[in-house]
Amino acid sequence: MTQDLLKTIEEKFESAKKGSQLFSFDSTVVTKESGSVKFELTYVPALGKKSSSSNKKEKMDPFENPDPALVVKELDEHIILLNKYSVIPKHILLVTKEFKEQTDLLLPNDLYEAIECIKAFGHSYSPLTFYNCGPSSGASQRHKHLQVIPLRRDSTVQPPIKQLYNEIHDRHVGQIYAINKLPFVHVIMELDKNIMRSALERDHLTEYLSAMFFGLLDAMFQQLRENTEIVTDSYNFLMTDDFMMLVPRTKESAVVEKEGRQHEFSLNSLAFAGLLLCKTEEELETLRSHDDLIDLLTQVTVPWNKNAVRLDAEKAAALTAELA
Ligand code: AMP
Repeated sequence: MTQDLLKTIEEKFESAKKGSQLFSFDSTVVTKESGSVKFELTYVPALGKKSSSSNKKEKMDPFENPDPALVVKELDEHIILLNKYSVIPKHILLVTKEFKEQTDLLLPNDLYEAIECIKAFGHSYSPLTFYNCGPSSGASQRHKHLQVIPLRRDSTVQPPIKQLYNEIHDRHVGQIYAINKLPFVHVIMELDKNIMRSALERDHLTEYLSAMFFGLLDAMFQQLRENTEIVTDSYNFLMTDDFMMLVPRTKESAVVEKEGRQHEFSLNSLAFAGLLLCKTEEELETLRSHDDLIDLLTQVTVPWNKNAVRLDAEKAAALTAELA
């Protein structure tokens, strides 16, 4: 079943590309380590050339009547759609059939279908699901959509938080952590491999994913309340088959100055996976020579308040107990 889905994704991707219904952009990837986190800087010249008229056109809701050439599969409540502008080949979107807002909460079925898409990519890829929720999250479309990108298995990129998270000794599945080394509010939790890899029935897997997600969401809002008076409804959600992570957002873009010029970078969930997009060569050079890429992430999030009661690896056990 999931094997079939991957086959359809691959076939549809090739045929839509051939028929020019899908644009697969050439890119140059540069890796750079900053703050003990590996980043991939992807320069896509075609994005710098995308005209403002094509941006305007996208305000029409491209997911209302999607191009059949891009439709991979219709599910009960969702459509699996190929991303028409593809930087990572076979990037898929999970859009709601009925119009829902991109500010809406993820629902149990959203999580279940996202995991099914992750499973469909199988072991040849390292798939990552993300949801850019709210106006400051980096989303460009109002119609509710999750996204799944099949990262290369050999990609060195992992979510920055995950790399540091791996350094926590003796961590426990299902517990919620934040990492002291990262200067902004975030929460992350490991999923139970046994559950994720077993052939659980739909209802049970959905129930498990929802319990984990809503626990993590509560923890994120708790951290926000303790660290800032800013109220924000924007956040980034990242999920693989072994963890979930949430980062509240306050701004869409970070600014980096180079030789007196300011360069603005719109960041979405992928920035927290270490993936930064550059539309011009100048932008690529700006990031390549910037000595603190984590600072871009800090600019668009909530810095920890030194005086707040902060969730950290040591306090995680207490918080998990509260959530139980
Ligand atoms: P986001 O920008 O995170 O809201 O994600 C929306 C994605 O939808 C972008 O990656 C776009 O490339 C993609 N997109 C825009 N228009 C279409 C379309 N007509 N069909 C499929 N994907 C689209």
